[in-house]
Amino acid sequence: MSRIGIIGGGPGGLSLARLLTERKIADVVVLERDAQVGGKSLTVTVDGLGHEVGTCYLTTGYRTVQGWMREAGMSNYPLKHHVIHTELGETQDFKAYVLGKGGPMKAGLQMARYVADWLVFHEWDIHGCRDDTKGTRGGLMKDEMAQPFGEWLKERELDVIARFALRTMSIMGYGGLDEVPALYGLRWNVPSIIWSAVTLQVSEMAPGWQHLWVHLASKLDVRTDQHIREVTRADGKYQVRTKDGLLEFDHLVLTTRLHEARGWFPFTEEEVAAYSIGNGGMEWREYVTTLVDAEGWFQEEDTHSFEAAADGTAALSQSRLLVARRTGDKTRAAAARSRTRRDVYVCYQVGNPDLKAKELQDILERDLHEQGARNISVLQQFRWTYSPQFTPAAIRAGAAHAMEKQQGTNNLWISGATTSHESIDNITDFNERLVERMVMKLAGRAPSDEDALAEVAARFRWRISDK
Ligand SMILES: Cc1cc2nc3c(=O)[nH]c(=O)nc-3n(C[C@H](O)[C@H](O)[C@H](O)COP(=O)(O)OP(=O)(O)OC[C@H]3O[C@@H](n4cnc5c(N)ncnc54)[C@H](O)[C@@H]3O)c2cc1C
Repeated sequence: MSRIGIIGGGPGGLSLARLLTERKIADVVVLERDAQVGGKSLTVTVDGLGHEVGTCYLTTGYRTVQGWMREAGMSNYPLKHHVIHTELGETQDFKAYVLGKGGPMKAGLQMARYVADWLVFHEWDIHGCRDDTKGTRGGLMKDEMAQPFGEWLKERELDVIARFALRTMSIMGYGGLDEVPALYGLRWNVPSIIWSAVTLQVSEMAPGWQHLWVHLASKLDVRTDQHIREVTRADGKYQVRTKDGLLEFDHLVLTTRLHEARGWFPFTEEEVAAYSIGNGGMEWREYVTTLVDAEGWFQEEDTHSFEAAADGTAALSQSRLLVARRTGDKTRAAAARSRTRRDVYVCYQVGNPDLKAKELQDILERDLHEQGARNISVLQQFRWTYSPQFTPAAIRAGAAHAMEKQQGTNNLWISGATTSHESIDNITDFNERLVERMVMKLAGRAPSDEDALAEVAARFRWRISDK
């Protein structure tokens, strides 16, 4: 059997390893730098209660993940009550804010128009983002995808969807709607996310995302404490130096940040160009989560969001509080215990490498005081390198297609947030398609030409039943 090495035991690496292992086509080994798996899925425990400081939500569209949750005996806990503090100084139920004055009828019509254009986008995306595909307005799809998502929505008069996207894009740290490319807006805002929000089926996991990855890893060959710093290539194979010695693989998958991997992985010039490594074509953001203990703040709602802090790139650059979530293990026993304890919140800000941890905390504490919270103590702060995105210029120049076309060349594969969008739904969907292409390659077929991508697209296109 072929040997496949996967570098990175985060959601990208573990979901791919699981899907590959199910196919029984190769021996798969995952090499993880840290002592624990999960990457940006991190559940921390304070006073016996678990808090999601990384990955948090899932929706009805997370089908593969839900199957793994059932297998691990896990449950989910719907979050039903969200409010938003508007720029006009009102506090509104989030659903009413999204619907606006037009109400459900207008929203339904907009949703239908959005889904019609989204389906055209989706076909382009799962066929490998070809450069010559027409968009929905007569030009090229890649040029439409380089547009700011807010502008893309405005041209289509989709103000209801834009209000929804303020929450799913800007407040989630993916960028201002005046800046974030439509490519990422459309990858993330699949119809099932909107459906889940409308039907109040966005949920958290009990006991937490990290538990899921630990469960998956327990059934796979995963080696932790393996910080990979050296890979060589010889005779079409990969030699990976680990602290326990040299491992040899026929195929290698990188799920880590590619600009960092350039320090230890011998990319060819062709790979550097195709994967936009170190040429400014792909940028990462920073997202900050702070676990705070506070008195006198909200008790009944699950989350409070802040419109003014998220309204555009200039607002986001202030690193103000975007959203806070009341937290704790979502098991019945923990809920009972949490009533006897102080209230803990996870607070989200967009980060900025120029701001020190203390400066970010000062901004946060000012915002919390303004909201009426008292006796605030910061328990822990986490700064995440987050949301890799091609720049608009790179998208126009065909970077998304170049990345897809390169997959599998020299038996090298790229997965994780870099190749889809920084969300586990997008990453697992991408990996399901990638596995088919890896199976093709192992059977001697080209995995990234038009025919291969069309065959995979036919099996994995989004269907209404996926809602
Ligand atoms: C605050 C926050 C909230 C989020 N909320 C959600 C949410 O609600 N829903 C959702 O679906 N997604 C959410 N996400 C996104 C989701 O967590 C990420 O998309 C996902 O973790 C990305 O997986 P990945 O494997 O690509 O990368 P990572 O999670 O970053 O994993 C990469 C792994 O590679 C390892 N590694 C790096 N370098 C090396 C090396 N040289 N050798 C060996 N190992 C290495 C790292 O230690 C890490 O474990 C959130 C993320 C954050 C930060």
